[in-house]
Amino acid sequence: MTYVIGQPCIGVKDAACVEVCPVDCIHSDENESMYFIDPEECIDCGACLPVCPVEAIFPDNDIPEDQENFIEINAEYYKRRPGD
Ligand code: SF4
Repeated sequence: MTYVIGQPCIGVKDAACVEVCPVDCIHSDENESMYFIDPEECIDCGACLPVCPVEAIFPDNDIPEDQENFIEINAEYYKRRPGD
């Protein structure tokens, strides 16, 4: 399992989640319009979920059906991320 960042993050990038993640597995860069969670590093602690002001974070097994593609979108970022 992993947590996943979905549609509401796009254009917001509040980054409150980055501050609370104990394993530093939430990243983005200037070319991206949202943050992404690394599914290989996430320990499913849930700390990020309540701090998101736009409720963009979901456990992958509880993501709204119309945002299921974000499971792959989060994972794909770490496949193309330089240095990873
Ligand atoms: Fe980080 Fe925990 Fe959120 Fe996973 S669930 S991204 S480990 S804060």
